[in-house]
This record gives sequence, C-alpha cells and structure tokens, in this order.
Amino acid sequence: MKIAFVGLGHMGSGMAANLVKAGHSVHAVDLNPDAVAQAVAAGAVAATLAQACEAAEAVVTMLPAGQHVLGVYDEVRRLAPTTAILIDCSTIDIDSARKAIDLAAKAGFAMVDAPVSGGVAAAAAGTLTFMVGGEDAAFARAKTILEDMGKTIVHAGGAGAGQAAKVCNNMLLAITMVGTCEAFALAEKLGLKDQVFFDIASKASGQSWSMTSYCPVPGPVPTSPANRDYQPGFAAGLMLKDLTLAMSAAAQANADTPLGAKAHALYDALCAQGHAGQDFSYMMERIRRGA
Ligand code: NAD
Repeated sequence: MKIAFVGLGHMGSGMAANLVKAGHSVHAVDLNPDAVAQAVAAGAVAATLAQACEAAEAVVTMLPAGQHVLGVYDEVRRLAPTTAILIDCSTIDIDSARKAIDLAAKAGFAMVDAPVSGGVAAAAAGTLTFMVGGEDAAFARAKTILEDMGKTIVHAGGAGAGQAAKVCNNMLLAITMVGTCEAFALAEKLGLKDQVFFDIASKASGQSWSMTSYCPVPGPVPTSPANRDYQPGFAAGLMLKDLTLAMSAAAQANADTPLGAKAHALYDALCAQGHAGQDFSYMMERIRRGA
C-alpha cells in the first residue's frame, strides 16, 4: 500500500519504520530534514507532501498539536485522492479532531482520529495501543494499517472519541502518579523503606500501573525511569500537554475534575521549574521536596 506518513519525530519515526517492515511503500514527510533522513535509513522514501499524497492509499499523521494537524489536512484534502483513508495519530484537542474529520467527510474522505498510548519504545516495537474515533467503515479500513504499528486497536466511538479516551486515560495516569509519589514520600517520612512499602502496596488495594509498572522511586521496578535519573519515558512536558487538553475538555463538558485540576497545577509547576524534559515520574522529587 502507498502510505504518506507526515511527522517523523520521536513517535512517528518508529511507527513509519514498522509500516515499512510490514511491506508498505512509505513516503516520508517532515519539516526537519534529519527526521526524513532517519526514515529513509529505515526504508521509507523521502517526499514532499504533494509527492507523498499523489495516488496515496492512506495518509498517516503524527504531529505535535491541533493547529499542525488542521494545517496539514488542509493540504492533504487538496493533494490526495478521496479514496485514501486519513488517519491522524497525534494527541490533539477534541474540537480540532472533529473539525478535521468533518472537513474530510465534506471533501469525500474517510478519516479517523487514532491517538496512541505507549511511548517511544512501544512506537519502535510496534506495540502501541490505538484509541480510534470515527465511523465504523472508516475504523475497519484504518484498523488494517494500525495493526502494523500496534498491538491493541480499540474503536472508541464517533469522531473525536479516540482523543476523548486518550485525555481521560492520561488524566487518570497523572492522578495515580501524583498519588503514588505522595504515598512513597509519606511512607519514607514514617520510616518505611521504599522496597518494603512497594512489596505491600503493590499487592494491596493501593496498587496501580503507576506503582507496579512505572514505580517513581528507584529500585522496586528496574525498568522504570526512576532508575535512570528520570530520563523519559514519557516527559513531564507531554503530560502537561495532555492534562491541559483534559482540563479544556472538562471545562467544555462541564465535568467536575478536582484531582485532574490539581494534577495539572502540579505538572505546570514542575515544568515551570525546568523539568519538562524529565520523565513525568520526576514528580516524586517535587513531592519529596514539598514544593
Ligand atoms: P515530535 O515533536 O518528536 O515529532 C513531531 C514531528 O512533526 C517533528 O519531526 C516535526 O518536525 C514534525 N512536523 C511538525 N509540523 C509539521 C508539518 N506541518 N509538516 C510536516 N512535519 C511536521 O513529537 P512526538 O513525541 O513524536 O509526538 C507526536 C505526537 O504524539 C504528539 O501529539 C504527542 O502528544 C503524541 N504522543 C507522544 C508520545 C511520546 O512519548 N513522545 C506518546 C504518546 C503520544
């Protein structure tokens, strides 16, 4: 299948490489020539957006934010045949996702929002989880391509439902991470060793993914970023981005999210202190310090 892939950054580079491995002809587009060169080294073809879209059967995008997605699809709708399935995997605001899908439908294209869970390692390994919003027929077409980049593909509902699932999941992740950091910090002050508290809480009702897979203190979970000086992983700055999207979605939906708001304020402060590039579990240090 000829696939135009736009946005070959941390995530897109691994995803595009997996599409190449699956036998697709991947035409790589990025503003950054180094990102394109990396994709070419993985077997993709360097292309302009016009070249990539010409006779494309699918367009996949992995871009920073809503304005980039809307801008790129303004061009794609002009350049690609309407038979191409359009798949946006970026994490963006729900309104922009719905707008992009609506404009695509009006121009005769099938399109889905398909944000991912799983970071750079899962993108490279082809084990991402995709949460997909869009019509049934569009989902069915997108699924065959997403399966070459991920392990779990879930149809969340209509246009924007993938983004809705993503912001709710990541808001919950932030809340459980902050709570886990608080529990470890208090346990330490009460004289418990980290490993002892982990052995108890990870088998008791306080356990969560933040504790058992991504423990914010070094030691108990050897693969967690805490063991490598909090190198990401999933950067605090990206968590702040997702929490900002969640807070804006909550305000629009008139949903009460007091813990989400608190987590947003805490990650905002952590990033303002210069830690946006560290893993989001670096919250542990902030909670330990108490400011
Ligand atoms: P990134 O900044 O590394 O990559 C984005 C790429 O898009 C860059 O190479 C940039 O040059 C390119 N780009 C921007 N505008 C463009 C345009 N108009 N045309 C062509 N290329 C353009 O970002 P990333 O970490 O790969 O994240 C991509 C998306 O995935 C974001 O929405 C992010 O929130 C989401 N996400 C990231 C992670 C993660 O762990 N990094 C995890 C889940 C979801």
